Amino acid sequence: MDIEKKVWEVLLSEEEIQTRAKQMGEEISNDYKEKKLLVVSLLKGSFIFTADLVRRISIPVKIEFMTTSSYGHGQESSGNINIISDVKGDLTGYDVLVVDDITDSGLTMKYVMEHLKTKNPTTVKCCVLLDKPDRRQVDLVPDYLGFTIPDKFVVGYGLNYGDYYRNVPYVFVVTEQDR
Ligand code: 5GP
Ligand code: MG
Repeated sequence: MDIEKKVWEVLLSEEEIQTRAKQMGEEISNDYKEKKLLVVSLLKGSFIFTADLVRRISIPVKIEFMTTSSYGHGQESSGNINIISDVKGDLTGYDVLVVDDITDSGLTMKYVMEHLKTKNPTTVKCCVLLDKPDRRQVDLVPDYLGFTIPDKFVVGYGLNYGDYYRNVPYVFVVTEQDR
């Protein structure tokens, strides 16, 4: 991993992300105030966004986690989504909001939402910090969206490069050093 030799370009600053997360939390609090909100956070990528978002939610909220895999080793979705760790039991009566870091092909979110619908919740919606609509392979429009971004591989704020950089507090793009 030669990331140190490359150029990091900040795409979204810490402040921009925090401002947006606050707005999204307020919007969700307003929309779900008569409902029974259950946030389902998709690990590992969404752990930081979820932590910031839920602290901006001012209504009662339960929080569960799911782990899925699709990426394998490359930067392209394999298209095969595996559920490694699931939400247990039946979701009758809950209004589920699936939270993820980014939708790219959309395959992960679509698959998870369809899967959770089989557990009989009242509603299933999704909330993502970042969206790359140019790469969509399925019909999916995020119900709550932080930022639309160009088709570039992004890192930081939960998003990994190899197994690292999830802890960087902003989102950046890795570009090649000038020739
Ligand atoms: P999708 O199923 O929508 O193609 O991809 C969803 C998952 O792929 C995301 O939750 C994220 O883990 C990973 N992913 C997609 N785009 C990027 C990216 O630009 N950077 C990183 N680090 N992960 C990404
Ligand atoms: Mg992910």
